[in-house]
Amino acid sequence: MTTPIHEFLIAMFLSLAVRRCLTILRETKTFLSTVTGQEELAKRGLPHKWPVAGVKHVVLVASGKGGVGKSTTAVNLALGMSVVQRGLSVGLLDADVYGPSLPKLMNLSGRPELSPQDRMIPLVNYGIKCMSMGFLVEESAPIVWRGLMVMSAIQKLLRQVDWGELDILVIDMPPGTGDTQLTITQQIPISGVVIVTTPQDLALDDATRGAEMFRRVNVPVLGVVENMSGYICPKCGHLSNVFGMGGAKKIAQQINVEILGEVPLDLNICKTSDKGQPIVVSRPSSPQATVYKDIATRVLELLPSYQDPFPQRQ
Ligand code: ADP
Repeated sequence: MTTPIHEFLIAMFLSLAVRRCLTILRETKTFLSTVTGQEELAKRGLPHKWPVAGVKHVVLVASGKGGVGKSTTAVNLALGMSVVQRGLSVGLLDADVYGPSLPKLMNLSGRPELSPQDRMIPLVNYGIKCMSMGFLVEESAPIVWRGLMVMSAIQKLLRQVDWGELDILVIDMPPGTGDTQLTITQQIPISGVVIVTTPQDLALDDATRGAEMFRRVNVPVLGVVENMSGYICPKCGHLSNVFGMGGAKKIAQQINVEILGEVPLDLNICKTSDKGQPIVVSRPSSPQATVYKDIATRVLELLPSYQDPFPQRQ
């Protein structure tokens, strides 16, 4: 027999679930209609995609929702690439203008200087060139930004940075599938996207939706990184699957992409990230760093070979 409190809770749960479904439907409809519109424009010769000046490959790191460890993955992936293939020049662009986290994760601060051509010169740490809105505005400013301001900020980050010559530019995308994703996927050629998810159902649904949308705009989905995939007890080494098991494998099969790696939920990853000393550089021989380096190796293998010279500067 149900009590009034049960009925109230059930009603509340159902209303939340319906509201969430409606939001998802609305977002998907807006995104797809814009994409379809863009496909039409593309057929008529517009819009043009221009490479980011000096950059051979752009790799996006995306997630359906926030807090799944996307930025941590982007940073360790970029560092991993530069480590597993010595001599590779790698850059990191933080496209999350609402909540830039690159300055903290890469332990960088200060304003970029301008080149003689009035382009911003990236800040560098651990051998990686970095650019983030966090270098350009006060910490609290981006939260109040809306539509056009965000688009113009993204334009600036895509076109007004002097990367020199980069083999790979890793772009840490904001979570979800909004205006920033559309702008970036429409304006520059992208070699592929890495989707980061946690093993929970909600995160997995969001990841599936994200992957489908990138496919719609012809961005190859390189694979899925399952983050916080099990917790290894630092004392006894026991593995607990805090967030469930096998979820990412299931979606990888459903949408036909591979699992690039499973990163454990680990105190050292969290501590080193939050101190601005990513685990790939601060504990390079640790098993956690090895997981990121293996992911980096696989991502490099999946990139289409690129024999052409660096794209011309515009
Ligand atoms: P997102 O970019 O998806 O919002 P972040 O990369 O900023 O997520 O990570 C959110 C928090 O989770 C940070 O405090 C980060 O240190 C922590 N974190 C990320 N991945 C792991 C992990 N594998 N183990 C432990 N903590 C993690």
